[in-house]
Amino acid sequence: MAKIQAIRGMNDILPEETPVWQFVESTARKVLHQYGYQEIRMPVVEQTDLFRRSIGEVTDIVEKEMYTFEDRNGDSLTLRPEGTAGCVRAAEEHGLLFNQTRRLWYTGPMFRHERPQKGRYRQFHQIGVECFGMPGPDIDAELLILTARFWEALGLGNHARLEINSIGSSAARKEFRSALVDYLSQYKTRLDEDSQRRLDTNPLRILDTKDPETRRLLADAPRLEDYLDDDSRAHFEQLKALLDASGIAYTVNPSLVRGLDYYGKTVFEWVTDSLGAQGTICAGGRYDGLVEQLGGRPTTAVGFAMGLERLILLLETLGLVPDEANSNADVYVTAMGATTIAPALALAETLRNELPGRVIISHCGGGSFKSQMKKADKSGARYAVILGENELANATVGLKPLRSGEEQTTVTQSELATVLADTLAN
Ligand code: ATP
Ligand code: MG
Repeated sequence: MAKIQAIRGMNDILPEETPVWQFVESTARKVLHQYGYQEIRMPVVEQTDLFRRSIGEVTDIVEKEMYTFEDRNGDSLTLRPEGTAGCVRAAEEHGLLFNQTRRLWYTGPMFRHERPQKGRYRQFHQIGVECFGMPGPDIDAELLILTARFWEALGLGNHARLEINSIGSSAARKEFRSALVDYLSQYKTRLDEDSQRRLDTNPLRILDTKDPETRRLLADAPRLEDYLDDDSRAHFEQLKALLDASGIAYTVNPSLVRGLDYYGKTVFEWVTDSLGAQGTICAGGRYDGLVEQLGGRPTTAVGFAMGLERLILLLETLGLVPDEANSNADVYVTAMGATTIAPALALAETLRNELPGRVIISHCGGGSFKSQMKKADKSGARYAVILGENELANATVGLKPLRSGEEQTTVTQSELATVLADTLAN
């Protein structure tokens, strides 16, 4: 029978790869904890309307990327393509937003039906952060300072550059949109196909087209910054001043607009040049209107999401995966002969009690001395503990260093943990 394979664009993350994932996730947890962010966990599936109403009908995600299906009750459900909408839904549903500030984060898989390629998958993972109830640029700045600390902690300090922009209030965008459409309509036939379509649906997205001819036409187009409302302008100036004061380098990218409808005022992306076209590793912005749009009370909000596959690809590309991300075994406990199995399991338990934090592997599955020692070697352990009938009778073990040329020694079982604690510390 033909074997069933994984779905295209949905990856298995294999045991050799999970250590680097754990490194990234635990580093993120530590940094978020330092800033007082609380974790929230949402379901992977939501009502389709949640995404339609938040992300926007005429965005790439809603138009062509969602995994939408009817469940057995006939309800239209969607595998979440991003986390913000579900986070707002959950926070609002449980009264987390009324009259208070919140700093939340989450991690997990997201689903988009895109063309799979390097750095772009159909199931991918994000760490997302959402802050509620803080209207000023101070929290925008905090998010960027936090992210910069995270890059630093991953060893990526010099490899991510920050681009920021302000896309203003929705009234300002509306005015700009019609000026942009008026201007571009004169040249409609010279625009690339995507941009022609967007002229009618989502004209702001034309600003980040990669088509050279469209880009040339855009050079003389009306500029979003000339349409900014005073409030957005002041917010943006203050944000830049806060970033300057914090030593966070950035460039203002006037064509940064983001692909989701709910953003306003501040938008930003962290970009790397080491991953080709899929260079955005973190993206976000302010979305002051979304909570209300989803039926809640007006609540200011700002957040971002980073793509973990891209981050990990970047760490691997740059050779920055730290050694400690590969958690090899420390000690491999063998059992030579049927009567030694129970005592060997017990001895391994004692070592785990005495040496918390060390990786102790018990040999299971029997086999000759030679095959057990081969497995011990393959585990990457620094020491094999050899327990045979003789050692059992004498309450000793053989302690064999596996990574140095040193001789095997005999150690009493009662001293074993202390001896290992000392030698493993070196
Ligand atoms: P892009 O322009 O690359 O399509 P996007 O604007 O659709 O990105 P967001 O919705 O802002 O992306 O998601 C935030 C981050 O999640 C992205 O910057 C990226 O790192 C990651 N990401 C988005 N889509 C994918 C995907 N299909 N596969 C892997 N990572 C993704
Ligand atoms: Mg996309």
